[in-house]
Amino acid sequence: MNLFKRMLATCAFSALAAAGAASAQAQDYPTRNITMIVPFAAGGPTDVIARIVTGHMQQTLGQTIIIENVVGAGGTTASTRAARATPDGYTLITGHMGTHAASVPLYPNLAYHPDTSFEPVGLLAGTPILILARKDFPPKDLKEFVTYVKANTEKLNAAHAGVGSVSYSSCQLLNSVLKINPTGVPFNGTGPAMNALVAGQVDYMCDQIVNAVPQINGGTIKAYAIATPERNPSLPNVPTTAEAGLPEFQAQAWNAIFAPKGTPPEVVAKLNAAIVKALDDETVRKRLLELGSVIPKKEERSPEALRTLVRSEIAKWTAVLKPLSN
Ligand code: ASP
Repeated sequence: MNLFKRMLATCAFSALAAAGAASAQAQDYPTRNITMIVPFAAGGPTDVIARIVTGHMQQTLGQTIIIENVVGAGGTTASTRAARATPDGYTLITGHMGTHAASVPLYPNLAYHPDTSFEPVGLLAGTPILILARKDFPPKDLKEFVTYVKANTEKLNAAHAGVGSVSYSSCQLLNSVLKINPTGVPFNGTGPAMNALVAGQVDYMCDQIVNAVPQINGGTIKAYAIATPERNPSLPNVPTTAEAGLPEFQAQAWNAIFAPKGTPPEVVAKLNAAIVKALDDETVRKRLLELGSVIPKKEERSPEALRTLVRSEIAKWTAVLKPLSN
């Protein structure tokens, strides 16, 4: 056999051996700790949801899932890092409506694309958005809030978790509906932002329900309305925006797990199965529901369902936010 054929045979054998090794690795996955990147500060909604669900997932997977909070730029710093990670299933990210949808229209040079830089793994929880304010903010209800913020827009400051975050994007929508332009006050997550709201250092915020239920029930902040068609069972006394006279403000977010593009399908399937098992666990469900989360229905839990959600959310938030940035 001439030299060329021998080299071809060697290359083919090496490729086959590498593919076999990768497949064996995927079959044995996971054999060591898994890193779960959370793109915001500890204690915020994404961190809380990630810890609740991965806490159960690691029982199924038989390996520890280590949460790593990587902050900055509305979650896009972490998402860029996750997109560039080795696609072996040992580096994952809990992204959301901001990092994996609203960031596309807000960052023209985003270093990743939510749809093509990741393998969707599975949806964790839907998170309705509320209009929140410091407890001594003068308006008593949403109607008074609308009048007050229109009359005082240049004096107001609104907290958010960085350009592209859920709190930023959803309040961009609210501010455009009300035609107001408050000063935005960025934080590394709505965990720290909530601390500032409770301390009265900022005026209002649009935030995910899981971050607000304890404070609302504790009376340390005000909740004017929830921006979903129905009230939430965890906050039965908080009216919907429609009931309170602002039906045009509808907003809800979601949190989901993604892996870098190229992560083997067998690995994605094992991770998705662990998510599904966690979402069917009574303790996990109780904790998520107490915080106002919406637990994904069975048909919403597959990787393909998440891919469809990401694509539709990119289109939706591009239509909402693109006109505001012109
Ligand atoms: N989900 C972010 C956090 O957990 C907040 C946001 O996106 O507004 O802090």
